[in-house]
Amino acid sequence: MPSFLLAAIVATSVQSADNISVLGNKPRWDVLERYQQTITHDEFLHLIDDVYCTHWFAADLIDVNDDHARILMSRQAQKFFTLRFATDDAARKPVPRLWRPAKCLPAAMLEKPLSGLKVALDPGHLGGNWAKMEERWFQVGDTKPVQEGDLTLQVARLLAPRLRQLGAKVSYVRNSDEPTTAKRPDDFRELSKKILIKNGVPQPRAEVLDSSDPAKEQTIRWQSEILFYRYSEIRRRAVRVNFKLHPDLVLCLHLNAEGWGDPKNPTLTDTDHLHLLVNGSYLAEEMEFDDERFEMIRRLLSRAFDEELPLADSVALAMARETGLPPYQYPTTNSTTKVGTSGYVYARNLLATRLYRCPVVYCEPYVMNSKDVFARIQVGDYEGTRNVNRVEHKSIFREYADSVVDGLVDYYSKARCSRDR
Ligand SMILES: [Zn+2]
Repeated sequence: MPSFLLAAIVATSVQSADNISVLGNKPRWDVLERYQQTITHDEFLHLIDDVYCTHWFAADLIDVNDDHARILMSRQAQKFFTLRFATDDAARKPVPRLWRPAKCLPAAMLEKPLSGLKVALDPGHLGGNWAKMEERWFQVGDTKPVQEGDLTLQVARLLAPRLRQLGAKVSYVRNSDEPTTAKRPDDFRELSKKILIKNGVPQPRAEVLDSSDPAKEQTIRWQSEILFYRYSEIRRRAVRVNFKLHPDLVLCLHLNAEGWGDPKNPTLTDTDHLHLLVNGSYLAEEMEFDDERFEMIRRLLSRAFDEELPLADSVALAMARETGLPPYQYPTTNSTTKVGTSGYVYARNLLATRLYRCPVVYCEPYVMNSKDVFARIQVGDYEGTRNVNRVEHKSIFREYADSVVDGLVDYYSKARCSRDR
């Protein structure tokens, strides 16, 4: 599930001079010079208005003029980056990027619609011994505990051979239940303390009393754990994606959940749904951070959206077909914006969708603590179909993997040129 818990406390920078988000990197605005005249005024404005900045933001951050945009680099220093637009589509210079959109892949044979495509699989969370710390764990009585990080890895391992069979080159962003980052919670104790003090907790407690402790988010323990398993871990995965794997596409694999309350006595629900996420819909306070604003503009200019949106729509439709799940409706529109045509895809600014420098499709099928999904998770993986809660089902892991494969095949069969053998 995505991080609804994203603590307001942790999202605040420590050094106010630089205005960098937590564990963020200093922006390298000079890199954007390569994107001069690669986008027209109209295209830039469309991506700002309809995808990335769908909420209100401070007027000095981005100022769009006829032939250029002025983007704030640092408010304190009053420094701006000037992006010059291409005068029209014909005058547009090529967009520099390491990943390849479908239309730039060589023609594929009919039976190998994914040939040459580099896909990186990113099973969400860690699972294993980390699942409880991540708050991605619940257990009903004596049944097998449900750990999102283990389920997503199981889906990835079913998905990889299927994609390879269709010609894709598959890599894993995570392929074990151990963290990618070398850091551990204790490495963040000092930083956690600073963050808490800056956020109005003058004498933060060291330890959480128990999992129902209402003030747990204001403890050094809880803050250093979230800095470890979310911020440090995902930033490390981004380094792996951007500097080692260089994929054409990252698939982030998750399962959703509704609030389950006490993880040892969780609430099971009748609700079940599906949605997918792509990057966008930045909040005003996120855009205030110099690094997040820079990363947003870099992503916008890379045109990852042009590729990830039709991909996400295609995967969403295949998943909806296969699972029969209705689209999730976010309770508020504060942090998300519906995009695309399937009705299942939202733009949202998550760390992974922002930092991985290529198209990213972030899947959120199934409510893990719905009665049916819980029962299917308990049955585990199997071939063929079985009767679960009076309905014949494929294993939930195969249904997930098969529907992602179908969505990719649909998209790439249409979007790239095919050739006969
Ligand atoms: Zn998740």
